[in-house]
Amino acid sequence: MTRYSVQRFRAAVLHTHLRIAAMISLPSSLLNYLLIETPDRGAVLFAFALFILWLQWRTRHHGDDSLRYAGWFAMAILCVMLYGVTISSEQMHLEVWMMIFPIAFAPIVEKRERIVWFIVGAVSFASVMMLRHDPPNAVSVAISIAAYLILGFVTLMLVRHNEKNIEQLAHLSTIDPLTKAYNRGYMKEVLASEINRCRRSGLPLTIIMLDIDYFKMFNDNYGHLFGDSVLEQVADALQHAALRAGDYVFRYGGEEFCIVTSGLDREESGQFAEKLRQGVFALDIENLQSPHQRLTASAGFWCVSDLREIVPSALLLNADNALYRAKDAGRNTVVDFDAIPDFEIEANLPQSAPV
Ligand code: GH3
Ligand code: MG
Ligand code: MG
Repeated sequence: MTRYSVQRFRAAVLHTHLRIAAMISLPSSLLNYLLIETPDRGAVLFAFALFILWLQWRTRHHGDDSLRYAGWFAMAILCVMLYGVTISSEQMHLEVWMMIFPIAFAPIVEKRERIVWFIVGAVSFASVMMLRHDPPNAVSVAISIAAYLILGFVTLMLVRHNEKNIEQLAHLSTIDPLTKAYNRGYMKEVLASEINRCRRSGLPLTIIMLDIDYFKMFNDNYGHLFGDSVLEQVADALQHAALRAGDYVFRYGGEEFCIVTSGLDREESGQFAEKLRQGVFALDIENLQSPHQRLTASAGFWCVSDLREIVPSALLLNADNALYRAKDAGRNTVVDFDAIPDFEIEANLPQSAPV
């Protein structure tokens, strides 16, 4: 998720860059044609504007992986800048435009690509200035390159700092502060995206609701502070049991957890839910209010192979229904929603429920 948020930020900056580039290059190309009478510059800017419009169209139609085109944009900007530098006169100081390059590429490309673009920009800038038919004097070249390096370096630092902040915010907005499990807000996002992913790949999706037994009495007996520490231990145990890529442990609320996994059939899902229940049992925390004399948990699960009509709330409601049966059956047990007789299910596949 963290990475996803930084990616989103990069994609948003790329879109802004493309919009600004189109807004500047189209009128400038006309200006060069009609007013300044420099048709060669007009043609270059027009070609650039067309390329940018094409990139805009591509990124709009490939929303999720629009960042594939970040390198193309950086290359186009570099070409136009270098063209500007080669045709510039001493008076126009078009080298200054070259300073836009680090600002343009740094926020939109991957961290490891940044240094490559930085060096490519500096080397091309220096070579073009030296190879110009009217090369500026060595001092001007040195000042321009130094300015490019300083601005580029500062931009790289600022972009990195900003990305770290985004990563931290993304972390804070997805994690439950007490248990360090994912929070309910993130669960909403993950359920929707996992349903889509499993629908496309044909993998079954499993949702498990797990609730600590007799926890109210536990709190009354041992105190809320110890209750909090137990919640942390339970979340840890669940996270240790759900280690595969694509396994998620969410704190649904209070002492209730929701675990999501994919690629397991019904039998395997049952075994997985059982492993989670046993993980809580194995913590071996005393709870004298329980018939087992220790802390236990109940779980209900639903393994869905046909996700065509499924919405997140239906997953939650049916797993919750199974959890309710597990409580009814004496607690410290696991119930499969599909094993509940139809007449016992109060609300079958509702289309809306609180997520
Ligand atoms: P059941 O076996 O039917 O699940 O009974 P229960 O007592 O576990 O369920 P109930 O819903 O009646 O009570 C849940 C309790 O969980 C109430 C509250 O004291 C406790 N709880 C909820 N959130 C927290 C929390 O963040 N910290 C602590 N310490 N306790 C919490
Ligand atoms: Mg409970
Ligand atoms: Mg509860």
